[in-house]
Amino acid sequence: MRMTVLASGSKGNSTVVASAHTRLLIDAGLSCRELLKRMALANEDPAALDAILITHEHTDHVAGLAVLARRLRIPVFFTEPTHRAWVRQMTPRTTMSYAKWLDRVQQEKQARAASEPGAPAMTASSSWGEGGANDLPLAACAAESDDNSAPEEEVPATAVQRDPASLPAVEYFQPGTCFRIGDLTVTPFTTPHDAADPCGFVFESASEAIRMAIATDLGYMPPNVKSALRRIDVLLLESNHDLEMLKDGPYPWAVKQRVLSRVGHLSNHATAEFLARDYDGNAAFIILGHLSEANNAPELALHSAEEAIRERGTLLGNRVLLALQSAPLASICL
Ligand SMILES: [Zn+2]
Ligand SMILES: [Zn+2]
Repeated sequence: MRMTVLASGSKGNSTVVASAHTRLLIDAGLSCRELLKRMALANEDPAALDAILITHEHTDHVAGLAVLARRLRIPVFFTEPTHRAWVRQMTPRTTMSYAKWLDRVQQEKQARAASEPGAPAMTASSSWGEGGANDLPLAACAAESDDNSAPEEEVPATAVQRDPASLPAVEYFQPGTCFRIGDLTVTPFTTPHDAADPCGFVFESASEAIRMAIATDLGYMPPNVKSALRRIDVLLLESNHDLEMLKDGPYPWAVKQRVLSRVGHLSNHATAEFLARDYDGNAAFIILGHLSEANNAPELALHSAEEAIRERGTLLGNRVLLALQSAPLASICL
């Protein structure tokens, strides 16, 4: 099994988790172009990705999602509330006359009637909240992905322009209920964060008996997250800010309160507390991620985590690494 952190931090997050037969991208928080560049740098073939999984709808996790999913023509897994929030975020607020609206509803009805009755219920999104199969976005994706030289902002197809939240396919999962993609079992767990339905993930490859987890964007460490993070071999864990740096830092008061709140981000201190008190010492690698550029220093985060597990650090286990915002981290293979 392999984990490759392509980017981690307040300006964009994305990680590849792969087993022998399945490759997943977790979050797509950089532009499509930058994500493809990072995958090339990290020797991760984008064409081999099977799906994209989204933790929550904040921009630093979804910035390149629509364009990347359409280009690679792969399904996107969300919780239903996260998908809805993302669609709202992506859909420009336009005003239209009642006559035009009726016209559009009629067109959508006809499109649905024309599509196969057995089509998957959750294929393609609709900004009108009706869901349902709609062949227009798929045609648009094909046109879009054929034109690799076009800047990603240029979307030639009118259907995509009309529905910027169209995706090749959407699948829903529920936190607490595991599901399979290929030979990977994915267990999503709820995280305390100010988004519609935020979650982290545990990935397990049955054939390799290895477990990897991603837990970032949490205001604190609730019992369900602590228990989800047991028996993990590679753990990507948030260590967002240094408390003193945040207090003295440049953020406006309201933003400081948000970061510090129970639905904000984990401080170095909170991460160290988890590592010292609750962590089972099982991981070969702990990758500290989602570091704030303004309110943290890599050496502070590293020192704080290493101190917390000093007794348990050996050459074989509990190696602490730092995920970067600006470049991919070398793949960790177990
Ligand atoms: Zn967030
Ligand atoms: Zn984030």
